[in-house]
Amino acid sequence: MFPSRFMPCPDCGESLERSAAASHRCTRDRELDYQMFRLRHEVDSFDERLAAYLSSSTGRFEVWLAARRVRTRTP
Ligand SMILES: [Zn+2]
Repeated sequence: MFPSRFMPCPDCGESLERSAAASHRCTRDRELDYQMFRLRHEVDSFDERLAAYLSSSTGRFEVWLAARRVRTRTP
């Protein structure tokens, strides 16, 4: 087996020809898109995890405390 001629940039995921990889510079937009792609499962499960946290005893206390702070305007 021989290595592929291309490799993904570890920071932005762009497919790079190995011979040109050293001169590659990531664009900020592509880097952000790649970070969001890598976090997609975490982003997708956020609502579910938030709901689970808010229904836990700690979460219910945080909700109660936040509501109390809003009502009494304490920092
Ligand atoms: Zn890159």
